[in-house]
Amino acid sequence: MRSVAVFCGTSPGADPAYMAAARAMGAAIAGRGLALVYGGAKIGLMGAVADAALAAGGEVFGVLPVALMDREGAHEGLTKLEITPSMHERKARIAELADGFVALPGGVGTMEEIFEIWTWGQLGFHAKPAGFLNVLGYFDHLRAFVDHAVGEAFLKAPHRDMLVFKSESGEMLDALAAYKAPVTEKWIGRPEL
Ligand code: AMP
Repeated sequence: MRSVAVFCGTSPGADPAYMAAARAMGAAIAGRGLALVYGGAKIGLMGAVADAALAAGGEVFGVLPVALMDREGAHEGLTKLEITPSMHERKARIAELADGFVALPGGVGTMEEIFEIWTWGQLGFHAKPAGFLNVLGYFDHLRAFVDHAVGEAFLKAPHRDMLVFKSESGEMLDALAAYKAPVTEKWIGRPEL
């Protein structure tokens, strides 16, 4: 693994622990000699993870859609900032650049981005890991919901188990590096085609 994408909130969150966790993740990525790939903004947890990786001497690649340059604030101090014509191109570029993906606490933008990566892995379109950094138990309910989806036979256990849940950034990076993609087909109860 040479690069890690971090998806996280454009907001700082209610507790200072969220910003602290973003800074710790940025420092841990750079400390291991990994490149950080992220959405290119300078606000909220997004700005914090990038600033910490840069401060630790790491390489940081940002990918921001043109429509959000003013609203999310293009980070001007990055190793490289790519401006894409659309959100779809931003996500495709991040998916291409990174070898592993982590969601830190965030809003629906964060959820959308990490779920897309997970679903592509489930379909076998890539074999890269995806994890949730569970700061202050922020993702506990999401994890319970994913278990519910398995219980209700809409999701297979090996596909649930693709997701890495850790609360500390070093443990998260270890787990991403050790990840092996499942070979299980996604569909449950599909008739012969
Ligand atoms: P949020 O977690 O909502 O604060 O947003 C985090 C990041 O997700 C920001 O960089 C947003 O630009 C991005 N984002 C917001 N909406 C979407 C979407 N529909 N698809 C992909 N990314 C999004």
